[in-house]
Amino acid sequence: MHILVTGGAGYIGSHTCVELLAAGYQVTVIDNLSNSKQAALRRVSEITGREPDFVRADLRDRMTLDALFRDRGFDAVVHFAGRKAVGESVQIPLEYYENNVGGTLALCKAMAKVGIRKLVFSSSATVYGDPASVPIREDFPTCPTNPYGRSKLFIEEILHDLYRSDDTWNIALLRYFNPVGAHRSGRIGEDPNGVPNNLMPFIAQVAVGKRSRLRVFGDDYDTSDGTGVRDYIHVTDLAKGHLKALERLSANPGIVPYNLGTGRGYSVLEMVRAFERASGRSVPFDIVGRRPGDIAICYADPGLASAELDWTADLGIEEMVRDTWRWQSQNPDGYE
Ligand code: NAD
Ligand code: UDP
Repeated sequence: MHILVTGGAGYIGSHTCVELLAAGYQVTVIDNLSNSKQAALRRVSEITGREPDFVRADLRDRMTLDALFRDRGFDAVVHFAGRKAVGESVQIPLEYYENNVGGTLALCKAMAKVGIRKLVFSSSATVYGDPASVPIREDFPTCPTNPYGRSKLFIEEILHDLYRSDDTWNIALLRYFNPVGAHRSGRIGEDPNGVPNNLMPFIAQVAVGKRSRLRVFGDDYDTSDGTGVRDYIHVTDLAKGHLKALERLSANPGIVPYNLGTGRGYSVLEMVRAFERASGRSVPFDIVGRRPGDIAICYADPGLASAELDWTADLGIEEMVRDTWRWQSQNPDGYE
């Protein structure tokens, strides 16, 4: 099977390429490298002993996309390409809609032209917004609170319309919870540009000495220690979920959303302590005010993915922090 991986040089994409190549799939990556480095793909080759083909292009470049689909004989697409920073999406919403929605439209049109109708899409738990209760099931109402989340929800809706127009499409909408960790080799991992927005890369950069202190956004939530609770999931488990989804698409399931999470939540302070244990470094922090738009608790009910994809997360918090630390300490400046 030949898989086109859009955004395959990025954080989750590169880990998924490793699992795809290791499982014997042929892989072609299209990525404009707007938020990634080609070095990640060289390291994917180093880990697997197999090389993904790489095309540096923007997904919205229709000529390139059409030529790729015409010439390469893909069987399915795993679609990661998009912009993902919540705060930035509030500042430049049109860029987010243009890139995320526009890129997906271009992709689906090119797929339809050549009759490829198997798609695994990177959605997000942000489509649920602030849930009325936890754990979150796929049939909970969707109500994203920022342009990034809305771009994901709009894409889900567009893909539903596409399926209604032609039920030979098979689409998995994978709603990721909080991806963290790195490949256990320490060779690939998350390499954010500038100041990290997310908790784990920030903690890791404090532990390695690149930043002085973590700011903990609020300790007055209704949680065990007052800090926010999230469902952190190891990126390798997440990557494996994509292979399970691809297998499932061959059974013609139509269009189905799946939560990919562990089903258990950890607070900010629990993550800090686990990281300190794994790294042997201290992570000094200050408690500051809540970050606008944050919610108290978010974790998945991953039962549907378990039942239908035969997928569950194997790796726990210890592996998540251990592998993040290995990556961060061995690559303090990321891929530079
Ligand atoms: P990432 O930024 O590391 O990877 C995205 C990749 O897509 C990058 O390599 C970037 O260069 C590429 N890209 C962006 N726009 C493109 C375009 N128009 N054409 C070609 N390439 C383009 O992000 P990630 O963390 O690996 O996330 C992958 C996907 O998963 C994204 O769609 C993201 O929204 C989604 N997601 C991520 C998280 C998370 O916390 N990391 C959570 C939920 C969902
Ligand atoms: N968080 C924090 N300090 C940071 C970054 C995040 O306290 O520098 C908290 C944030 O308030 C939330 C949790 O860590 O409770 C996870 O935040 P992240 O941005 O990683 O993910 P998301 O908000 O998308 O769930």
